[in-house]
Amino acid sequence: MLLKDQVALVTGGSRGIGRAIVKAYAAAGAKVAFVYRGSQAAADALVEEVTAAGGTIRACQGDVKEPTFANTLAEQLLKDWGRIDILVNNAGIIHDDLFVRMEPDDWFKVVHTNLDGTYLFCKAVAYPMMKQRSGRIINISSVAADHVNAGQTNYAASKGAVNALTRSLAVELGSRGITVNAIAPGFIATDMSEAIRNKAGDFIAKKLIPMRRLGEPEDIAAVALFLASPASAYLTGQVLTVDGGLSLGA
Ligand code: NDP
Repeated sequence: MLLKDQVALVTGGSRGIGRAIVKAYAAAGAKVAFVYRGSQAAADALVEEVTAAGGTIRACQGDVKEPTFANTLAEQLLKDWGRIDILVNNAGIIHDDLFVRMEPDDWFKVVHTNLDGTYLFCKAVAYPMMKQRSGRIINISSVAADHVNAGQTNYAASKGAVNALTRSLAVELGSRGITVNAIAPGFIATDMSEAIRNKAGDFIAKKLIPMRRLGEPEDIAAVALFLASPASAYLTGQVLTVDGGLSLGA
C-alpha cells in the first residue's frame, strides 16, 4: 500500500499506458480519478475492475485541451477528496505526416492535446499542491522528442516542450516539496502504436530494441509508481527514458 490514502489524477486513463498507471496506483492504495475523452466502454470496464478489487476510482469524461476542464475537475476533487497528491499528464495523440503535407489543424491538435493539456492540468494542481507543501507531477513524454522520426514534427515538438516544461516547473515548485518529472517511453504496445506495430513490430523488437521486445504499458506504470512513491522523494526535473534501450541506437 505504497500510496495509501493518496489522491491521484491521471489523464488519458481509459486505455493504454494511462490505464496501466490507474490500475497500479489503485492497487497501491490511492484514490484515483482518471480522465478520458470518448471511450466510454473502456472507462466503465476500468471502473468496474478497480472497484471489484476494492479500489476507489472515478471516471471523468472531458477533453484535456478544453481551457476550463482541468480547473473544474481539480476543484471538484479537492471538494470531494480533500487533496491532490499525484498528477499524471498522460493523455496524448499522434497525427503523423511529412512536414510539407502537415495541415495547421494536424499541428494544432497534437500540440494542444500533448502540450497545452499538460500545461492546463499542471496549472490546475500547482496551487493546491503548493498549499499542501507536497505533490508529484509526472508528465508522459516520448523518446521521439530527442530521437526523432520523419513525419512527427508536431509530436516531437510537443514532447520536447513537455520536457522543457518539466524541468522549468521542477525549479519553481521544488521549494514547496513538489517534484516534477517526465517519463519518455519507447515503443509501447498500445492502440497508439498499433498501425506501426502491425507493419514493423517484429523488426523493431528484434533489430532495434536491445531488450528484444516491445514495451508493455505495465513497464511504464512501474516507473510512474516509483515516481509517485517515497522512494523518489529527492528526484526532480528529470526525464526518465524507459525504452528497453531503443534510443541507444544499437
Ligand atoms: P492510447 O492512444 O492507447 O491512449 C490514449 C489515452 O489518452 C486514451 O485514454 C484517450 O482517451 C486519452 N486522450 C487522448 N486525447 C485526449 C483528450 N484530448 N482529452 C482527454 N483524454 C484524451 O495512447 P498510449 O497509451 O499509447 O499513450 C499514452 C501517452 O504515452 C501519450 O502521451 C503518448 O504520447 C505517450 N507515448 C506512447 C508511446 C507508445 O509507443 N504507445 C511511446 C511514447 C510515448 P479515449 O480512450 O477516451 O480516447
